[in-house]
Amino acid sequence: MDVRVRYAPSPTGLQHIGSVRTALFNYLFARSMGGKFILRLEDTDRSRYSDAYVQNLYDTFSWLGFYWDEGPDVGGPAGPYIQSERFGLYREHAQRLVDMGKAYYCFCTDKRQAETARTEGDEATDAQASSGFGYNRACRNLDPVDAKRRAASGEPHVIRLKIPLDGTTSFHDLLLGDIEWKNADVNPDPVLLKSDGFPTYHLANVVDDHLMGITHVMRAQEWIPSAPLHMIMYEAFGWTPPALCHLPMVLGQDGHKLSKRHGSTAVDEFRTKGYLKEALINYVAMLGCSYEDGRDLYSLEDLARLFRIEHVNKAPAVFDYVKLEWFNGQYIRAKADDELSALVTPYLASAGLVSAQPTDSERAVIMGAMPLVRERLKYLSDAPESLRFLFREPAVPPAEDMIPKKLDAARAREALAAGRELLVAAGSLEHDALEAAFRAKAESMGLKLGDILMPLRMAVTGTKVSPPLFESIKLVGLETALPRIDKALEVLR
Ligand code: GLU
Repeated sequence: MDVRVRYAPSPTGLQHIGSVRTALFNYLFARSMGGKFILRLEDTDRSRYSDAYVQNLYDTFSWLGFYWDEGPDVGGPAGPYIQSERFGLYREHAQRLVDMGKAYYCFCTDKRQAETARTEGDEATDAQASSGFGYNRACRNLDPVDAKRRAASGEPHVIRLKIPLDGTTSFHDLLLGDIEWKNADVNPDPVLLKSDGFPTYHLANVVDDHLMGITHVMRAQEWIPSAPLHMIMYEAFGWTPPALCHLPMVLGQDGHKLSKRHGSTAVDEFRTKGYLKEALINYVAMLGCSYEDGRDLYSLEDLARLFRIEHVNKAPAVFDYVKLEWFNGQYIRAKADDELSALVTPYLASAGLVSAQPTDSERAVIMGAMPLVRERLKYLSDAPESLRFLFREPAVPPAEDMIPKKLDAARAREALAAGRELLVAAGSLEHDALEAAFRAKAESMGLKLGDILMPLRMAVTGTKVSPPLFESIKLVGLETALPRIDKALEVLR
């Protein structure tokens, strides 16, 4: 069988880390099976639609670097891939169900039933909520010929699916096993086509999955309540349903569904903060799925090769921001100088430290700084703060910030002056030689090494925590470091 899976977002919000997990599992499954991964835009909810969300979807996946084989932007044989361009198909199919006696026109104008139609929109939560609005099936037994005439004459109506009045509907979930619903518990006769001719999520979703040849539906568990209804529709059309696989939920540490309360959830926020796409992909791929024992780090290619639906967990996954940070550190450490420079440059530029198109000399400084910060950066966005001193003269520190514990200003000044002398005397600014000289000097002055380094670090970098000091001094150059030291010595006078 040629596997075809789809990611079917509704562009009603920014791409969320949980939705990216759904997309990623679909992609990995497709790749692992040599199948196709399809993007379908489920944009039937026009009230919450925004072009900006569509743009965000494209930007997010271009950045992440795993992309669909078929979709609105790349085309494909099963298009159009945007539901709002397929309205004719949905009307035709709803009509077909009416003609087969599997669906019916409903003319009820009662406010409560209008409400039902409205909430049977595109969200799972709405689908669940709407089961609270029990429709009384008033129009189910209208004479079909009469109803058809009324509809044709322009009387406002919706089209509703006939849910069998008794019996059960069951389906096999690849992950959760056999699931059975009493038909009496299925939303009584959901709307398929709204009075404005727009399809509901259920109609469009089922028609499209069928027409697009989708073989496996992998989606969030919150869609389980919609599944029996969809099965009833497949049956009504006489179609073979795709295999279903409802993915485990993604929870916050407190056991509630992951949301803004727990931290960032929009992919954009992670990106801005300076997470690497490799870290996000690696971590998200592990939310509810295992690959090989004893390994944490997987490239996208590894994941695509190793993904098995049988290795997806039933239990919910817990999103651990600390673990994600660890992954980020791992991928930052693994970057070569030129790659890491390219990644941090936009952050340095937007902090105003370098030009948007860095000059050759700026580029050289950035490259030189990479070995110093590679081990320390948690996020790319940490770079401007720790590298500021390379591009900007730090404010001259106040005396109290340069006086090591148990010393006074006069001793701190002596220590700083000794450090200055050692730097000037050093033939080169190599770390090992400098450190030996500083150590010896400290000992002869009855000081600890840190007592000399601390005021020097403040003077040159303006901070108590900086990248390794000798390397930093080498990078800014003595011609820049010495005047900073001199100003600091003045303050300690
Ligand atoms: N449009 C739905 C969503 O936003 C798709 C659900 C499904 O995959 O069937 O998640």
